[in-house]
Amino acid sequence: MKKETLCVHSGTYHDPATRGVNSPIYTSSSYEYLDRQECPYPRYFNTPNQEVVVKKMCALEHSDAGLLFSSGMAAISTAVLALAGAGDHVILLDDLYGGTHAFATGEFQRLGIEYSFVETDATAIFKAQKKNTRVIVIESPTNPLLKVLDIRKVADFARKEGIVTIIDNTFATPIHQNPILMGIDIVVHSGTKYLGGHSDICCGFVLTSSEKAARIRSMAHCLGGSLNAMTASLLERSIKTLAIRVKRQTENAEKIAVFLKDHPAIEKVNYPGLPDFHGHEIAKTQMAGFGAMLSFEVDVKRVRPEIFVRRLALIRPAVSLGGVESLICSPALTSHVKMSAAERKRVGITDSLFRLSVGIEDAQDLEDDLDQALR
Ligand SMILES: *Cc1c(COP(=O)(O)O)cnc(C)c1O
Repeated sequence: MKKETLCVHSGTYHDPATRGVNSPIYTSSSYEYLDRQECPYPRYFNTPNQEVVVKKMCALEHSDAGLLFSSGMAAISTAVLALAGAGDHVILLDDLYGGTHAFATGEFQRLGIEYSFVETDATAIFKAQKKNTRVIVIESPTNPLLKVLDIRKVADFARKEGIVTIIDNTFATPIHQNPILMGIDIVVHSGTKYLGGHSDICCGFVLTSSEKAARIRSMAHCLGGSLNAMTASLLERSIKTLAIRVKRQTENAEKIAVFLKDHPAIEKVNYPGLPDFHGHEIAKTQMAGFGAMLSFEVDVKRVRPEIFVRRLALIRPAVSLGGVESLICSPALTSHVKMSAAERKRVGITDSLFRLSVGIEDAQDLEDDLDQALR
C-alpha cells in the first residue's frame, strides 16, 4: 500500500469490545501477569499505545521493529549508547543536529568512546575509518544548510566493513526518504517535528531490525525515556495526516524556494529541490520529494536581518520545525549559538542566514509576508 494509506490505517488496534475505529487509550502502567509471557509496562516500551504507533512507523520506514521514546534525543542517545562503548570509535557528520553534536563532544570522552567529526561527504567518512570504528551517525538533508549526503554509498561501505549506520531522518520524513531500503541499519526520528506536526508534542523513534532493536531495547530499559499513552495516542492521530501534510508543505517550499531565489533582496537559497543546488542530483536519487525545510541569506546591503525577522507578520520567529505553521529562525542566534563566530563562519552559518520551516498555509500568503518584510 501507498504511504497515504499506511499513515491512516497501519498499526490501528481495533478493540473488539467497542468496535471503535480508533485505537483506544490504555492508561494502565500496571498489567496482570498471570497466564502470559510478556507483561506490558511503560518503561519496557511495550504498552498497547506505544505498540500501535511503532507499528505504523515500521510500515512507513520499512523496518522490522522499533521503539517509541519521549524525545528525539532519548532515541538517538539510547541507540548510540547501546552500540558503542569504551574503546570504540564513532564517526559523525560535523553538521549533525546540535543536540547530537553536543552529546558526542560533551559525553563521549568520559565514556571512553573515541569520535571523529567529518564534513557531509561519503569520502570524508571513508577516510575517517579506524580499526575500532563501530558506528557512523549521519543526517541528510542537514540542518541548516540542507547539505545532501549519498546515503547508499555510506551504507554500502559500512556493510562491507561491519560498521553500524544510524541516520537521523527527521528532516526528510518517511514520506520522502526510506534509508532502510538503501541499506542503512537504524533510522532515528525526532517525532517532535513532522511526525507530531502541530508543535505540541515531544517524542522520538528508533526503527531497525529485530536483532538491533533487542539490543537497543535493553539499553532503553536502563535509561528509561519512554512515552506515555496520552501523547502516544496524539502522535498516532498526527501520523494519520503525515503524508498529506508533508506533501502540501513540500509543494509550498518548492514555490517559496523559487520565489526567494528570484528576489532581489536575497543572496542565496539552500533547497535540495533547486536544480542548481549542489546536492540536487543525489537528492533526486534518494528522495521522493525534496522536503519542506529551506534556508536563505538576505542581502545585507538591502536588508537588516534583525529588522526583517521582526517585520514578518504571518511567519513566526520560533525554534523547532515541521509543524503546520511556518516558522523561521536565525541559526546563528538559536541552534548554533554555542558555536564560536569563527567556527560558524567556517561552516557557512552567517548572521544573515535564516532557516524556514514551511507550513501548510497558502503559498501566496507566505510569499506576500516574506516580500513585505524584505521590502
Ligand atoms: C529536533 C531534532 C532532534 C532532537 O529531537 P528532540 O525531540 O528535540 O529531542 C534531533 N534531530 C533533528 C534533525 C532535529 O531536528
